[in-house]
Amino acid sequence: MRSRLLLVTGLASIILCACGQKAAESTVQAAPAAQVDAARLLAASDAANAGQWLSHGRDYSEQRHSPLTKVNAENVSQLGLAWFADFDTRRGQESTPIVVDGVLYVTTAWSKVFAFDAKTGKELWKYDPKVPGEWAVYACCDVVNRGVAAWNGKVYVATIDARLIALDAKTGAPVWDISTIEPGQPYAITGAPRVAKGKVLIGQGGSEFSQRGYLSAYDAETGKLSWRWYVVPGDPAKGFEQPELETAAKTWNGEFWKTGGGGAPWDGIIYDPATEHVIVGTGNGAPWPAEIRSPGGGDHLFLSSIVALDVNTGKYVWHYQTTPNESWDYDNTSPLMTADLTIGGEKRHVVMQAPKNGFFYVLDAKSGQLLSADAYVPGVNWAKGVDIKTGRPILNPEANYSKTGKGALVSPFFGGAHNWQPISFSPATGLVYIPANQSSYAFVATKEDDNPMGQKLSISFKGNQEYMRKLKAPPVSEGFLLAWDPVQRKEAWRAPLGNGRSGGALSTAGGLVFAGTSDNSFVAYRADNGTKLWSFDTQTGTMAGPVSYEVDGEQYVAVVAGFRQTGNYYAPNYSRVLVFKPGATGKLPDAVPFPDPVLNPPAAFGTAEVRAHGEEVYGRFCSTCHGSDGLSRGMFPDLRYSPAINTDASFRQVVIDGVRSQNGMVSFAKALSSDDVEAVRAYVVDRAIAAKSASEAAAKAAGQQPHGP
Ligand code: CA
Repeated sequence: MRSRLLLVTGLASIILCACGQKAAESTVQAAPAAQVDAARLLAASDAANAGQWLSHGRDYSEQRHSPLTKVNAENVSQLGLAWFADFDTRRGQESTPIVVDGVLYVTTAWSKVFAFDAKTGKELWKYDPKVPGEWAVYACCDVVNRGVAAWNGKVYVATIDARLIALDAKTGAPVWDISTIEPGQPYAITGAPRVAKGKVLIGQGGSEFSQRGYLSAYDAETGKLSWRWYVVPGDPAKGFEQPELETAAKTWNGEFWKTGGGGAPWDGIIYDPATEHVIVGTGNGAPWPAEIRSPGGGDHLFLSSIVALDVNTGKYVWHYQTTPNESWDYDNTSPLMTADLTIGGEKRHVVMQAPKNGFFYVLDAKSGQLLSADAYVPGVNWAKGVDIKTGRPILNPEANYSKTGKGALVSPFFGGAHNWQPISFSPATGLVYIPANQSSYAFVATKEDDNPMGQKLSISFKGNQEYMRKLKAPPVSEGFLLAWDPVQRKEAWRAPLGNGRSGGALSTAGGLVFAGTSDNSFVAYRADNGTKLWSFDTQTGTMAGPVSYEVDGEQYVAVVAGFRQTGNYYAPNYSRVLVFKPGATGKLPDAVPFPDPVLNPPAAFGTAEVRAHGEEVYGRFCSTCHGSDGLSRGMFPDLRYSPAINTDASFRQVVIDGVRSQNGMVSFAKALSSDDVEAVRAYVVDRAIAAKSASEAAAKAAGQQPHGP
């Protein structure tokens, strides 16, 4: 039923596209579209394919290094806007475009797909999988999507509601549409599919929702499941799907399967044709504190690991666990890449990763042997290092808040020293470019996390707030684009961004590194020393990874922008794909001035006990989206500024009646009583009043009028 409905939708959009099209100025080859296959991917750097971006990380290695040289350090200052296209969603944008034979395929938030003429920007087709807005509540971190895969005339998109859809690359019409989950399970997919040996590989997110992670491989032509690999064991009484899960179960204690275990592989997946291995990064444990998940220690395999599987059968080959007994949301899902490095005079075919836990790992791709592991950001304190002989981290017992029962300020924070943002490797400089940051978080465990809906972290928000209030100074939070030497095992250079964050990285044979920033710039750096050579005002922050391609002898650089200004939900988003080439003179429409939001809370109400209860409820149900202390993470409203807090009725309409459920703000009637909701409102109003007083005091001290953030 669903696929039939979608087919109708797809046809409707084709008809719309065909109407009013002018005579083709397009340089797009008439047919066939998206002709990507193994031979072409293996020859991705040859002259015939150098101008393509055939898969998520450009080719199988996922080095995200373009062999193109026409844009280089000498002429990058002449780079200008060739074309841009606006997206119809203000949510976060994380997509890497795929460019095949003059067509650029890109996804947006809500898992929508667009195809553009890569030279002119003319929209060729678009496809909306019509994800139910309510499903957003199962996405830990916004309804983002990181892009499509292209293979044999089709493009593949995975959706927030965990479907995998094959589209005809020429028309955008659905070919097949399947669910990757059992009905009703709270999983969400944000990652880009990969295709290897005619199989579409896809994982999912769900560890924060007490789910069990797995990687699936589907036949690219039919959508039939080829194999599935579960990351963690289920209930041993029901038997094990894979023999290695029996061994893995011995690293768990108690009734571990009841929490789902976690391990969801939601981002990094590569195929290594040299070994015929699929190499995948697995997610964190569910819930976060290991002692609550499975008391009594143990490694909890295969959480937070790099795992190699046979591409043909899905059978386990090797694993390396970066974070045994994981307790800090250290997903090990960050992008993976293969490369050939000369280490100690010997040529090694390696896998590299800069995961959330702050250590940069180099492994032998065939055997999984650990070759090196080094902290790539300052301040890492959950482990003092990694013992190269045993491959195990040298743990800091104080960071194990789950075991000590005391809170701990741990670095990196749960968002990681680096997360999903694409990294690149230049064989010319030998450097890996990483959007990195130094940050920490006060983890405090709580067993009280029987949430009937939403995330189940077993982390005390209130405990975190109390811990933070006792600190003499706020912990360091700094972002930078890091150039890391994986052979010398040290930093080569960094481009500091202060409180900001770097978006994904692209390196080129023109000696450049491109990356966006959270503070509205798209920047070109010299790849060898980090000198800033060019930048463009993107009007919004950029998180996604750039790409480079060539059409009709001209080199282009493309990036998807879209990230509300850090900490300010009310700033315009300007979600777009932006495409540059030397000599182009295109301009974006002027940025629309937006008024600062105004703090206008009602009078305080409720007792101290009511507000304390509100803080606890807010922490469990609201803070993962709306942020600590009422502060938004940028993607969602800062509730202190929301007019909805002014009356009980308006707040209730949103929280209980679910009037904004199409945006993902579902009704919390299942989880919260009337008293709970009013207590949350009392807490947020109290925070708004405090912020208003602080703002007025600061303005008075500076002799200015008070204004918003
Ligand atoms: Ca996670």
